[in-house]
Amino acid sequence: MHEMSLCEAVVEIAVEEAKRNGAKHIRSLVLEVGVFGHVDPDALAFCFSAVSHGTLAENARLVIECIPGSGWCLDCAKTVPMTERFGACPECGRRHVQMSSGDELRLRELEVE
Ligand SMILES: [Zn+2]
Repeated sequence: MHEMSLCEAVVEIAVEEAKRNGAKHIRSLVLEVGVFGHVDPDALAFCFSAVSHGTLAENARLVIECIPGSGWCLDCAKTVPMTERFGACPECGRRHVQMSSGDELRLRELEVE
């Protein structure tokens, strides 16, 4: 289960950021998670509450936003939506697609008090 290490990284970044802002508590976090990251939102929420226990992020609200996949098709020379990591281009059917999004895990917003 890689959600645990992901959460540790996220909480660490969030706590650092909150401390830098002189915050006493983190109210909420918005995480962007790519569809190809194979992150289970329920597992992520569960790990988050475990990892954040005793930190500034304890009891913070975790919002998970799913980022759809997209890639650059070399044959069509444009960005196309992707449903699987090494999928074919939906327009020309070839597999010359370089994934450009769908793999991210990013802390997008942090609300502190
Ligand atoms: Zn194409």
